[in-house]
Amino acid sequence: MTKKKLNISLDQFGLIIIGTGASAFYYYLEESMAQDQSLGSFITIAIILLISMFTQLLINNINRSSEALRESNETLEQKVIERTKELRESEVLYRTIFENTGAATVIIEDDMTISLANSVFVNMSGFGKGEIEQKKSFFDFLDEKSHRNVLNDVGFLSNEQNLECKFINKEREEKDIFLTITTIPGTENNVASLTDISELKEAERQISHQAFHDTLTNLPNRALFMEHLNMAIKRGKRRTDYHFAVLYLDIDRFKLVNDSLGHSAGDNLLNAFSERIQNSLRDIDTLARLGGDEFVILLEDIESEDYASVVAERLQQALRRPFMVSGKEVFAPASFGVVLNTKDYDLPEDIIRDADAAMYHAKEKGRAQFKVFDKKLHEKALHLLQRETDLRKAIHRKEFVTHYQPIVSLESRSVVGFEALIRWRHPQLGLIYPGSFISIAEETGLIIPITRLVMQEACSDLKSWQDQVQHLQKLTMNVNISSKHFLLPSLLADIKEVLDSIGLPPDHLKLEITETALMEDVEETVRHVNRMRDYGLQIVIDDFGTGYSSLSYLQRLPIDTLKVDRSFVSRIQNTPDGNRNIVEAIISLAHRLDMIVVAEGVENLEQYTILLDMKCQFGQGYLFSKPMAKDDVDKLINNMLAYSRENPGLSYPLTGDLLN
Ligand code: C2E
Ligand code: MG
Ligand code: MG
Repeated sequence: MTKKKLNISLDQFGLIIIGTGASAFYYYLEESMAQDQSLGSFITIAIILLISMFTQLLINNINRSSEALRESNETLEQKVIERTKELRESEVLYRTIFENTGAATVIIEDDMTISLANSVFVNMSGFGKGEIEQKKSFFDFLDEKSHRNVLNDVGFLSNEQNLECKFINKEREEKDIFLTITTIPGTENNVASLTDISELKEAERQISHQAFHDTLTNLPNRALFMEHLNMAIKRGKRRTDYHFAVLYLDIDRFKLVNDSLGHSAGDNLLNAFSERIQNSLRDIDTLARLGGDEFVILLEDIESEDYASVVAERLQQALRRPFMVSGKEVFAPASFGVVLNTKDYDLPEDIIRDADAAMYHAKEKGRAQFKVFDKKLHEKALHLLQRETDLRKAIHRKEFVTHYQPIVSLESRSVVGFEALIRWRHPQLGLIYPGSFISIAEETGLIIPITRLVMQEACSDLKSWQDQVQHLQKLTMNVNISSKHFLLPSLLADIKEVLDSIGLPPDHLKLEITETALMEDVEETVRHVNRMRDYGLQIVIDDFGTGYSSLSYLQRLPIDTLKVDRSFVSRIQNTPDGNRNIVEAIISLAHRLDMIVVAEGVENLEQYTILLDMKCQFGQGYLFSKPMAKDDVDKLINNMLAYSRENPGLSYPLTGDLLN
């Protein structure tokens, strides 16, 4: 607008000058013609005219230039408008992207101030946009540890992908985030993008929780306990004033609850049990479930080792109150094993092993007790371990021999069969009797191959003796079967295989089982015994009177023979009114149930006579013969054959040492 005004005034000014010049020229021309003046005036006037024209030319020129200037100005203006529009468009684009990345995004200035925050970030922070931008430092939203994380060694923001940080919102709540920081090229600013990974972290936490906790009780499991124990061992080595102890707990007769009230009641009991124990412990102690009804406790930082016994006593006290399970009162006393001298250990497994061994002894002592592990127990444990290793070797090296004790008819004192009794010829220790190794064999499962060896040897020996006396009589072989082994379905198949390979009919074999084996699971036992009988085997109850069973219970079982325990026979003559009556009652009841009775441990004539009086048919004991090696039985068979040759129709009577 001003430029236009200026042009107009310049043009007018030029016209005024030219007009003035022309008027002046005309005036001077008239004057000079009228006055006839000199040429000088004429020239002056011409110069003025020329200047006027030159001025006009100049003005025209200026006008043209300003026109060009104006045009280029306009182009420039147009360009500026276009660029601004473009910029605005791209800013909208970038803003849209910035807003909609999905991730919380902020622009951070070099002093950490947030200059721009997208709405995701704003929402996540709990602050208003206006409270953040230019007002808050990015560090206000991260915890201390994350501050160090996001700065590199030289104190700048590290341009790293997926830094794991803790984000803190307005309410001071923490969230796990992945943080990615990128420098904006050509500036001092950075873009930080934050992804909420709380759910991922939570899932991770759950997975690791599951890996280290028992699902039923939510207590730490074995793996986590071992870790704690390992740390306690290390701490104990560093600090002389640091003591800790380990308790191993096993609920007494837990199986009974499971079997009688069902598994969910069993689970409820385990939960209630662990809760009660937990409530009796300090926060720093660790209670863990190893599985089943077995728990362990780590008592940390205790003043003296005696304290562990105090805790064990207190816990036992707490367990004297019943639990309410499925509307029923249930008692769950537990046996505890305690390890006190924990400084002697380097490995957590060793502590657990010894605590377990002590617990086992507590159970043996009679449940609801605790036993502190000591050197003697340790030696005993070592001894057992050695025995187990030796037993394994013994099976391979065939170090077992079977001895045979004759079973005689009391009436005629003739041999009707034998009981196979295992012995172990230990290369260093000599002959070992079954009382010192059968229980280890049972616990380690080695009883299965051992029984098979005995069965194989006893049956093949019997076969050869039976073949020799075939024309005279039938002989039978009694083989002892452990209670744990008896209920295994594989037993019958094993027996069939052995008998088939030897060619001995099954009615020559009698299985001796203790009462406890038959008490385990009555229904299953009945089915099992029936299967054995159907095959042709006979079942003998061994050591009768020492277990829990009653004759009325035995009535339900298809049992052939009952062996009265040695403890009854040994007292038969000393207490005429007490023991004698019991033995008599057992014998007469057994006969009424169609069972054969064998008296065990007959050692003297008096016992023998009393038993004969009681109409006990069979006996076994030192009075007739001690258990003997195969060679001795071979001789016995020869004697039997010779006797029958000399005394046709009569059988050879056994006269053991005591008869002489
Ligand atoms: P058991 O089956 O009751 O065997 C009888 C035990 O009493 C045998 O002890 C025998 O030697 C002993 N005995 C026999 N007559 C007399 C006597 O007049 N007086 C005395 N004081 N003792 C007598 P052994 O051979 O030491 O066997 C002990 C136990 O070991 C057996 O008791 C049996 O339960 C178990 N056993 C033996 N061999 C085997 C086997 O091969 N397998 C299994 N599972 N257990 C076996
Ligand atoms: Mg026996
Ligand atoms: Mg016996």
